[in-house]
Amino acid sequence: MSWVAQILTLYPQMFPGPLGHSLAGKALDDGLWAIETLDIRDFASDKHRSVDDTPAGGGPGMVLRPDILGAAIDAARLHAEPDWPLVFLSPRGRPFDQAMAREWAGCGGITMLCGRFEGVDQRVIDQRKLTEISLGDFILSGGEPAAIAMLDAVVRLLPGVMGKHQSAEDESFERGLLEYPHYTRPQIWEGHEIPAVLNSGHHGKIAEWRLKKAEDVTRLCRPDLWSTYERRHKT
Ligand code: SAH
Repeated sequence: MSWVAQILTLYPQMFPGPLGHSLAGKALDDGLWAIETLDIRDFASDKHRSVDDTPAGGGPGMVLRPDILGAAIDAARLHAEPDWPLVFLSPRGRPFDQAMAREWAGCGGITMLCGRFEGVDQRVIDQRKLTEISLGDFILSGGEPAAIAMLDAVVRLLPGVMGKHQSAEDESFERGLLEYPHYTRPQIWEGHEIPAVLNSGHHGKIAEWRLKKAEDVTRLCRPDLWSTYERRHKT
């Protein structure tokens, strides 16, 4: 059975979007994963198909209604396994990371609710026990780009999506380190040579150099990751 991404959105036409291309797109074509979009508007009950209303207490913008969202979530969950995460994309959620991507890839699928406007009625978050997950400390105009970015990270970890030669193990964050720098031909470019060790053919020395570079770049670019890594490995 393929891994399933259920997306609740006002813009189903945004999917698969970028996920229909390259690695994720090929995996989609090969049936290694599937996208089910649910159009939130299909769950509206009035003839204007309205899904939002003005914020209680006043203020700008519109808020997505809990009755409509509740019905949409319930419809999606009918086709989900109970262990699939039920996620609301939200700037106030826990920040998405590689460990979460691995965890999600290990379930059979996920249900994602994409907010729009000012956000969603708090009661639906509470009643349906939505897990709020953020793409980062900035405000998007909707949850869809966040869902696409997170799904891209998850799909490449699914069995069979990346070839053996494209091993994910060395990549940034997998060991708590950023990745070492890469080089390819030409041997000399604008007067700069590929580091000699990489042409030495000495696998031990190359691995040592790469680890050293990964540590250097992490210390320099991400002191937060570095202090965790140091605590784990250097004591
Ligand atoms: N008024 C809200 C922002 C609403 S943005 C606030 O100040 O927090 C509209 C929708 O975009 C949100 O409901 C959410 O689904 C999505 N969104 C915006 N920024 C996001 C982020 N950093 N990560 C994930 N989703 C985000």
